[in-house]
Amino acid sequence: MNASRVLVLNSGSSSVKYQLLDMRDRSRLAVGLVERIGEGTSRLTHSPAGGADREWTGPVADHDAALKAMAAELDRDGLGIDSPELAAIGHRVVHGGIRFSEPTVVDDEVMAEIERLIPVAPLHNPANLTGIRTARALRPDLPQVAVFDTAFHTTMPESAARYAIDVETADAYRIRRYGFHGTSHAYVSRETARLLGREPEEANVIVLHLGNGASASAVRGGRCVDTSMGLTPLEGLVMGTRSGDVDPAVIFHLTRVAGMSADEIDTLLNKRSGLIGLCGDNDMREIRRRIDAGDERARLAFDIYVHRLRKYIGAYCAVLGRVDAIAFTAGVGENAAPVREAAVAGLEGLGPEVDPVLNAARAEGPRLISPPGARVAVAVVPTDEEMEIATQTYALVSDSSDLT
Ligand code: AMP
Repeated sequence: MNASRVLVLNSGSSSVKYQLLDMRDRSRLAVGLVERIGEGTSRLTHSPAGGADREWTGPVADHDAALKAMAAELDRDGLGIDSPELAAIGHRVVHGGIRFSEPTVVDDEVMAEIERLIPVAPLHNPANLTGIRTARALRPDLPQVAVFDTAFHTTMPESAARYAIDVETADAYRIRRYGFHGTSHAYVSRETARLLGREPEEANVIVLHLGNGASASAVRGGRCVDTSMGLTPLEGLVMGTRSGDVDPAVIFHLTRVAGMSADEIDTLLNKRSGLIGLCGDNDMREIRRRIDAGDERARLAFDIYVHRLRKYIGAYCAVLGRVDAIAFTAGVGENAAPVREAAVAGLEGLGPEVDPVLNAARAEGPRLISPPGARVAVAVVPTDEEMEIATQTYALVSDSSDLT
């Protein structure tokens, strides 16, 4: 097959992020974002490789209009989506349940299954479906590939994936731990193995994806064996606006004592908790500024965030038995040296160590921040979910597998 371009779409409820990549040399030809879809002041930003960035503000009524606006921008750069160079469109789909453990070419039946999963991903799957539907209408002849956020975690053993609740109830309502950010955990665990000079099959890695959403995973020999997010992305680490783990009885208590509805508690735990609930800010840069200025609430929020992180590192050392590396990724993980330092401080007994000079140095690309000879390497590995989606998409539709 000669076509070597892949268009990656990440459709949210009011935004579409896109990247056009050439898989021959894994280069990015264009990157863009349409945001505030459905509002009067929608905005499109478009960055072609080697060209000037363009920005455009105006009404974009729906996803159909958003993808047409994207297509027009790509056309201006001679990268039109009608081009025979385009091999496929890869879509990020948040929830693939237990069925989708691999990237999948979308047909009507796959669409129906993604739709059936809406009750467990009410915020994300409808928007992902809209993006796929619209892209299929634009290029019906082209393979549309769904790459699922949950797929990497389908290798979790039942002992990690099941909640200890009544089995019939759990199965009737598909209640189990699915995990999210899987594309990132897959990419980062593999890149970490590469950084260690090993094959993924030979490395045990703890990945800490710390962005506005945050999750940890335990990866044994390239396969996920545990992850911190569960039925939904609410479980696990303290996040920008999500609580992570709480005693489920907090919910009954708020229902009975505070008279709050399920929707109100949902909003409380997903949007008004985590760092923002603890100190009013969810941006780690601002929290560090406030700590430096002596702000006690920001300090406590940071300490709670780090405490949870350390608990998961310890837990995943126990799950894996032998750990070769801990990898930090995403906005906080890649940039916040104080978080990395505090997360690993005093854990020499378990193996990981951080070198303060390497940790503080700013650099692009994957790098080690542990001193030479540390029993467990500590790494910063920038995530690249779009590249991973494009790689998986291309591997599925092309006959050359040497690009994976
Ligand atoms: P993400 O969801 O991966 O885009 O991460 C977004 C989050 O990363 C922001 O909310 C910030 O908390 C954090 N972040 C981004 N840049 C920095 C930085 N330079 N230092 C500390 N935190 C950062």
